[in-house]
Formats: sequence, structure tokens, C-alpha cells
Amino acid sequence: MIGGGITGAGVARDAAMRGLRTVLVEQNDLGSGTSSRSSRLVHGGLRYLETGNLRLVLEANQERRVLLRIAPHLVWPLPFLFPVHRGDRVSLWRLGVGMWLYDLLALFRNVRTHRMLGKRAVLEAEPMLRERGLVGGARFYDAQCDDARLVLATARSAIHHGALVANYTGVLGLERTAGRVVGAQVEDRLTGERAVIRANVVVNATGPWSDRVRTLEDAGAAPLLQPTKGIHVVVERSRIDHREGIVFTSPIDGRVLFILPWGNLSYIGTTDTEATEPPDRLGTSADEIVYLLRSANARFPNARLGLEDVRATWAGLRPLLADRNGRTTSSRSRDHAIVQGSGGMITVVGGKLTTYRAMAREVVDRAMRELRFRSGRPRGSEARTDEEALPGGEAADLTTFRDRGLEIGVLPESVEHLLRHYGTEAAGIYNLGGGDRRLLRRILPPHPAIEAEVLHAVRRELAQTVEDVLVRRLHLYYEHPERGIPAARRVAELMGREKAWDEARIEQEARRYEEFARR
Ligand SMILES: Cc1cc2nc3c(=O)[nH]c(=O)nc-3n(C[C@H](O)[C@H](O)[C@H](O)COP(=O)(O)OP(=O)(O)OC[C@H]3O[C@@H](n4cnc5c(N)ncnc54)[C@H](O)[C@@H]3O)c2cc1C
Repeated sequence: MIGGGITGAGVARDAAMRGLRTVLVEQNDLGSGTSSRSSRLVHGGLRYLETGNLRLVLEANQERRVLLRIAPHLVWPLPFLFPVHRGDRVSLWRLGVGMWLYDLLALFRNVRTHRMLGKRAVLEAEPMLRERGLVGGARFYDAQCDDARLVLATARSAIHHGALVANYTGVLGLERTAGRVVGAQVEDRLTGERAVIRANVVVNATGPWSDRVRTLEDAGAAPLLQPTKGIHVVVERSRIDHREGIVFTSPIDGRVLFILPWGNLSYIGTTDTEATEPPDRLGTSADEIVYLLRSANARFPNARLGLEDVRATWAGLRPLLADRNGRTTSSRSRDHAIVQGSGGMITVVGGKLTTYRAMAREVVDRAMRELRFRSGRPRGSEARTDEEALPGGEAADLTTFRDRGLEIGVLPESVEHLLRHYGTEAAGIYNLGGGDRRLLRRILPPHPAIEAEVLHAVRRELAQTVEDVLVRRLHLYYEHPERGIPAARRVAELMGREKAWDEARIEQEARRYEEFARR
């Protein structure tokens, strides 16, 4: 398995659960590609109703139910308000029809069914919305998730079922026998060490990098992807002062945008433009940021958001299938495809975070056919990936875990943070602090993350660098006004204790993070 985003992690979990000997390699950190740069929604895809892809909406709605069940700490229901103003591209009438269809495609088993609201009810729900021109709206439900941690949890579940997972291990080339791909040459990106991994089936799940990896198999392989770029901006939630998730059409170009709550922050997203930069060198431009801020200001006039209010941004490439019909970026298909190259490598492209589990099952079905064809032996059974909880998701009611945290003196806000990040595994974090109570201290107050989490990240979540800890595991990079820079040294010290780093290495790792965060 090449690629440790949500797709690769999902395929590794499914394969390992079927008893296949599975190895997953990721060139950077798990989830460091597109899978930690999404809109963090596990959603049916209300927007896709407009493109008529009802099958995708049906499947995504079903997957939302599964993920809410197997990872209740990482995927949680979120109420949305969709206000409509006079002259909006989507009229109230059209929104009403869409809402019924959305509930229908969820088989009326969404968190709750939608409600259409009059102008007064919309303003009661969101008093800071622009009143002028408001005609009404709808409240509906979807789910929000911690995308980076969902990848980690999925990869860890794969490990639990016997998969070998290595981050910072990039594929440089493919091994071949009689023209068939039978393995890969890999390099440890931290030490420079090289090795060959042999495999009966190689799966390429490298998202926006897929076409690049396909050229290792066939230098002339025609590109499958036509990625589009999306950015998000993070601002203080109090500036917009909204209460729930807001979906709205941008008065600038009519595109559907949203403003989503994230603790005391909010993020606004997303753009959808042709990708002109390679996936490893993505940035956000002032134009992209201004477009999102102006759209939000038009709906929440008191916010008056400017560039100086932006706390953080992130950008990602949607690994979308190339479009033969010349459709615009927003209407390009979110479907996925599984193709096999001339050497037999299976490539999976497209799709979305929400549907990763279903996509992974299809990929492993294809891999099993290939294995049967090669060995002639029937293998493996179905993987019950929809039944077994992801690590930490074993219980939805976390009352006893909350009580225990408070009992041993963890601050209430840190307890809530731990339950949201780790679910039932919060107990393991408390235990880490059992021997050394200083580990229950916050790393960088007022952010609620505590020191014991750093040890957990190294021991159980494959963290190798300070960036892995502060960006994707603890999120201080996005959530702290100074991007977690003042915590770099302490995190490096704690990691150093686990990894036997000497003083020079600790200093170097801390500095590397500081340079990254300033950049
Ligand atoms: C702006 C934006 C918003 C989105 N919002 C949502 C949303 O709200 N909900 C939703 O369901 N979906 C959303 N998506 C879609 C979703 O994020 C992606 O479909 C999904 O994350 C793709 O995952 P992936 O594993 O295929 O790719 P990636 O996460 O990019 O993973 C591919 C991995 O392969 C690795 N790799 C590349 N080359 C090599 C190599 N040679 N050797 C080893 N490893 C390699 C990369 O480092 C990378 O980590 C959004 C996407 C974007 C861009």
C-alpha cells in the first residue's frame, strides 16, 4: 500500500481485517497530504444534489451513519443553518426541494430531519446574520470530523489487525518480475536508509500524487486526475459570532460556502479552483483569502473580517477524476475510480473522506481477485469495518472517563479536549500522567492540550517530528495564536525522552518546527 492518507489507511485496515499481510508506506506523516486539509465534514454532500449524483449522496449518507457509530469521538453531528437572501442563486423553494431529497437519500435516518424556517426563526437562530434581503432558510444536519485524527485512528486499527505501517517512508521505484509489479523500493526519509518491500499486489493510494506514482509503473501513463485546489481560513469565532454551521451561497459568484465552528475558532471554506501548483508546494494567495472573507462579511456584516484577522489557513488538492465533459471545477465528479496499470498495480483515485471505507472495501475486493488469480487459492473473508470501532470509539457515552479525569485533577477544558481527541483512550493518557503528575499540565496555556499527549503521540500514534505532534495530533498549529511555536522546545524535550534524543537533536527538532511554522 503506497500512501498514508485516509484512502491508504482505509485500504490497509480493510485488508488487514481480512487477514492479508499488509504493509503501508507513507512518504511524510500519516494524513499530511489532502486528508488533513479537508473541510472536516463527513457529509452526504448537499451540494452534489445540484450535479445530480444521487448515488454518491446515498452512499455518503450511509457512510456518515457508519462513521458516527464507529468513531463517535472523531465524527460528531453538526446542525447547519442555510439562510437564503433575495437574489441568491439557490431560492428558498429550491432549497426546500433539495432538503426533502437530502433526507430521502438518508432514508430519513439522518441525525434529524430538516426544518424550513421563516425569516424570524432564522434570525433567532443566528442574530448576526444580515437581515436585509433575508427571506428564510433551512436547518439540517451533517457531521463534522477531525480529519487528521481519523486517518491516524484508521491506520492504528490496521496495525491492530496486523498491518505494518511506516511513515516517512517514500516509494522511489517499483520492483518488477516479467513485467509485473511485485514490490517497491523505499527510502526512510529520516535516515536515508533504503530497502525493497516485496508484495503480491501493490496499491497506489497517493491522492493528488497518484499520476506521479503511476509513471513509476508506466512512464507514458495518461493522467487520470484533474485536481482542484481548495483553501480554508481560520478566524476567531467571536468575530462572526455564529452558533451553528452556516452554509450559504457566495454573493460574489453563487458558489456554496460554509462557516464552521471549531471550539472558539471558526473556519471558512472553501475555494474550488484549477490546481496550478504541485501537491507538495501548495500555498494560499491573498486573493483566495479575500474571496472567502468578503463572502462571509456579506452574510455577517458586523464581522468586518480583514486579512489581519486570519489566524491560520490551509490548502489542499482534491484528487478529482479528470473530466471528459469539460465541467467546471465545482461540478466535477467526486466519484472514485479503481484502475489497474500495465504491471498490475492497482490505483485508486477520487472519492472523498466521507466515503473512504466503502472505497477501501472495493479496492480490497479487487486486490483479492488479483491474489486469487495469481495463486488460484480462495482467500480471506469480508472485513466488518462498519462494525468494529476505531481506537477510542468503543463507547459514545464518556461520562466515566470525564469523571475520572476531573478526579485526578485534569482541568475541565483539558478533559473535554482529551475526550474529543481520544475518546475512551483518554484513560490511557490519564495513566501516562499517573507516574508523573507534571504530565497532566497544559503544554501551552490557555490551549487545553496536556504534556502526556506528546508521549501518547510518540508511543501509540507514530509521531516522528515536532510538526507531527503540533500540527496533526494536537492541532496547536491551527489553534494557537502563535501557531504553537512557544511549545516547540518543550514538545521536543518530551519526544526526546521517548526517542533518546540528545540535547543537540532536541534543539534541532524544536528549531525545525519553528522554521516550518514561521514559513
Ligand atoms: C479543500 C478540500 C476540502 C475537502 N473537504 C472534504 C470534506 O469536507 N469531506 C470529505 O468527505 N472530503 C473532503 N475532501 C476530499 C478529501 O479530503 C479527499 O478525497 C481525501 O482526503 C483524499 O485522501 P487520499 O488518501 O486519497 O489522499 P491524500 O490524503 O493526499 O494521501 C495521499 C498520500 O500519499 C502520499 N504519497 C505520495 N507519494 C508517495 C510516495 N511516492 N511514497 C509514499 N507515499 C506517497 C502523500 O504524502 C499523501 O500523504 C476535501 C478535499 C479538499 C482538497
